[in-house]
Amino acid sequence: MRVWVFHNSGESSTNAAHALSKKLKAAGFTVSPARPDVVITVGGDGTLLSAFHRYNAALDKIRFVGVHTGHLGFYTDWRDFELDDLVQALLNDKGERVGYPLLDIKVTYEDDTTGHYVALNESTLKRVSGTMKTDVLIKDNFFESFRGDGLCICTPTGSTAYSKSNGGAVLHPRLEALQITEIASINNRVFRTLSAPIIIAPDEWVVLKPAPGVNYVMTIDQFNMTDRPIKEVRYKIADERIYFARYKHMHFWDRVEDAFIGAKN
Ligand code: NAP
Ligand code: MN
Repeated sequence: MRVWVFHNSGESSTNAAHALSKKLKAAGFTVSPARPDVVITVGGDGTLLSAFHRYNAALDKIRFVGVHTGHLGFYTDWRDFELDDLVQALLNDKGERVGYPLLDIKVTYEDDTTGHYVALNESTLKRVSGTMKTDVLIKDNFFESFRGDGLCICTPTGSTAYSKSNGGAVLHPRLEALQITEIASINNRVFRTLSAPIIIAPDEWVVLKPAPGVNYVMTIDQFNMTDRPIKEVRYKIADERIYFARYKHMHFWDRVEDAFIGAKN
């Protein structure tokens, strides 16, 4: 089995990653960034996001494992003091994997060039100064004319990130669905949006058609993508999925409770 250890630049993550690489080599694994079967991230959810984008061209061949050095994350299962248990789990590996939905994003710019991306958490379309004006279509049917700061389209596993800050629902990651949340919509006698999060079905898609001639900011997970005017953005559930080698199981709602409430005794 080929394994790669991907870490953030923090001191504790770097140390844990180096210790883990050493243990993996001692156990007989090939530790290499080229064509890994398993990518172990050491850091937080943000580190897993970075590794996902580094390897997003080979998602069907890779399983991810997240080690966290700080607080429990949504993409991380192992603590940095459990490295020996993790190596043992890899030695006992039978190829088991669990897959979660991703967001497929197709952008058409005003000059008719296109871009195709995949997000693990979410994509947003925003305007930094001035109001964003965009038509929102669901399954190519006009739904509403949105005015406000922006819109966020997230995956189920992304529902605990930015989407939640926008008042979105937390979705169990077993659901095949996308969620749209509003970022500061304008609602008055003239302008009207639904003003509630929307969860769309697996066979539906969302199209945003922003008012022409204006620069909007498009984000994909931690990245800022846009430098040119956008004609439209199409969002659907991606054909690809992200796979985790989940040797340890944590009940999803326990994870939510631990991350956001933390009152369990
Ligand atoms: P960051 O600014 O360091 O991350 C913001 C926080 O989001 C971190 O605490 C991160 O956890 C957490 N996070 C990431 N994915 C998550 C998930 N699926 N569920 C729950 N929490 C999650 O930037 P980053 O680490 O590169 O992460 C980028 C993400 O930040 C974006 O995809 C977006 O979802 C989120 N974000 C949130 C807001 C907001 O809530 N207002 C604004 C911008 C971006 P770790 O500390 O474990 O990395
Ligand atoms: Mn982070």
